[in-house]
Amino acid sequence: MLNIRIEKTTTPKELPSKDNPLRFGTIFTDHMFIMNYDEGKGWHDARIVPYQPLNLEPSAMVFHYGQEMFEGLKAYKTEDGRTLLFRPDKNIERANRSNQRLCIPEIDPDDFMDALKAIVEMDEAWIPTKEGTSLYIRPFVIATDPFLGVRPSSSYLFIIILSPVGAYYPEGLDPVKIWVEDEYVRAVKGGIGAVKTGGNYVASMKSQVKAHDEGYSQVLWLDGVHRKYIEEVGAMNIFFKIDGTIVTPELSGSILPGVTRASVLELCKEWGLPVKEERISIDEIYEAHKKGHLEEVFGTGTAAVISPVGQLRWDKHIMTIQGGGIGPISQKLYDTITGIQLGRIKDIHNWTVEVK
Ligand SMILES: *Cc1c(COP(=O)(O)O)cnc(C)c1O
Repeated sequence: MLNIRIEKTTTPKELPSKDNPLRFGTIFTDHMFIMNYDEGKGWHDARIVPYQPLNLEPSAMVFHYGQEMFEGLKAYKTEDGRTLLFRPDKNIERANRSNQRLCIPEIDPDDFMDALKAIVEMDEAWIPTKEGTSLYIRPFVIATDPFLGVRPSSSYLFIIILSPVGAYYPEGLDPVKIWVEDEYVRAVKGGIGAVKTGGNYVASMKSQVKAHDEGYSQVLWLDGVHRKYIEEVGAMNIFFKIDGTIVTPELSGSILPGVTRASVLELCKEWGLPVKEERISIDEIYEAHKKGHLEEVFGTGTAAVISPVGQLRWDKHIMTIQGGGIGPISQKLYDTITGIQLGRIKDIHNWTVEVK
């Protein structure tokens, strides 16, 4: 059991009102978890303290070379009052794979789990219960050596903050419009595309802004070499239903291996749908659409769970999918996954972990 020192806030904030839309990532709870790493000492001094600004030197390495890792998962309140996390073991595993790639010291998985449970339990009252809401959990590690040379830092902070959230996209489960990016690229094989780190996001902002200006909510990335093969959407993996088959790009090394993606693949296989993880080009998608075979497109990720895509724009081509509505598989996946997360559907896979 991780030994966590607890310092409770003496000035608790007011909980958001029932009708607050909880715009994604704008409200933070009363407390945060922090743990330090120092070379020779390892991870130490785990504590829960009031949510507060950090005190860092301007020379802290994270500000200059971006050595940081983050994760994203959610806690849900069930109707019978239990608090559930969805597949936190997967996030912990991925965090340590990210840490390895980014030269950040790994965190003991049991300590990580203890920290998650402890901070969520502390601010349990902040878990919203209205349909479509949850408590978003953001664990992250930053490099803190005050040093401008380039090498892995020898000191770090591991922090977990919590944010009650509503729908990720203002559209909710309404279909989103997606811009296929064929100018900029996000990641290449051998790079850091498969790890969750800020660098991938700053690389994506330029085209995100361009897509927004054109009235699209997200960007669909093509591979960094040929700008031809489908990779993923900004913060989601992407699925297509083509002529009855569920297709998603294989994990090529430049795509983030999503927990939601893995869950969707398992469910589709269980439902007896033909499923393929393979390299697929934007030309093939366009051809399928022309023939009337592109039946559904949806993104998968913790924030939005399932996000139906109503329109894809590639160069001059505008592809409308499901008449701009939600497809039956997208809807069934959303209902099933959120049903498991909220404890409404029997969790036969043991995907949920109860806090406490
Ligand atoms: C987090 C993330 C996803 C989705 O992963 P989940 O584990 O399903 O939340 C997809 N793509 C990118 C780039 C991400 O950062």
